[in-house]
Amino acid sequence: MNDEVDRLRAQKKQIYKEIDVMNEHGYCPNCGINFDGDLIFDTFMERYDGDEEKALESASYYGATKTKVRWGHKIALYDMEKDMTTRWKCPDCEYVWDR
Ligand SMILES: [Zn+2]
Repeated sequence: MNDEVDRLRAQKKQIYKEIDVMNEHGYCPNCGINFDGDLIFDTFMERYDGDEEKALESASYYGATKTKVRWGHKIALYDMEKDMTTRWKCPDCEYVWDR
């Protein structure tokens, strides 16, 4: 029982990690919601209190610039056995589809 809880916790952690680095979006095939989020650069500008140099450096780790690459809203479903994201999930209508 505890093993199962640990496994699910690890899985959840991994899913959140994937959401953080995700930078390709598009639209939900079911409800059509736009998955584009805030600019990654803007997020770091806030985090570093407007220090542009620091924000740009952190954004660059995600392949982002001042004007390009946004966070995405769709949820990556991670397969522990295959060690990869196999499916996506829409946070709005909860529709799940293959990658
Ligand atoms: Zn949807």
